[in-house]
Amino acid sequence: MFKSFIPFAHAQSIYEIEVDFFLKNGVKTLFIDLDNTLDSYRATEPQERTIVLIKKLRDVGINPVIISNNKARRVCIYADKLGVEYLASARKPFSKKIKAEIARRGLTNNEVMLVGDQMMTDVLASHGAKIRVVLTEKVVKEDQWTTHINRLMDRPIRRYHRKKGNLVDWRNK
Ligand SMILES: [Mg+2]
Repeated sequence: MFKSFIPFAHAQSIYEIEVDFFLKNGVKTLFIDLDNTLDSYRATEPQERTIVLIKKLRDVGINPVIISNNKARRVCIYADKLGVEYLASARKPFSKKIKAEIARRGLTNNEVMLVGDQMMTDVLASHGAKIRVVLTEKVVKEDQWTTHINRLMDRPIRRYHRKKGNLVDWRNK
């Protein structure tokens, strides 16, 4: 059961990953978690670094899509300002909506990758949908209260896999 928590790769933050990594791994569409992956859950407006990241991805032909468990009314404000498509109320760790999103876009699983900061949602949902996932650390300290319980489980699992050498840096993939 612990195996289902091993990500394809690990990054300190989405902002350190070079687009070459995604290209090299055949990614055409990148699913990106919002809260604590791109920004704080309080952020209503993208920062410059996020705008730059989205532009870099598009410049090499990768389509970014925000995949968030948060409600549409939170996600849409941020995503619209960023000019990025989104799926809100994604219900991660369940993979049904992610699978549907892949099918709807006519993509194969190996053309898709997800980047997210949580073991309990992003990693599990990606495995369920049979897509690769890059696990990141939190981009800010604070979490929405709904995330606190996930963190309690996330922390020891993350520690375990780090010790085992299962969190492989994206530069080595
Ligand atoms: Mg998150």
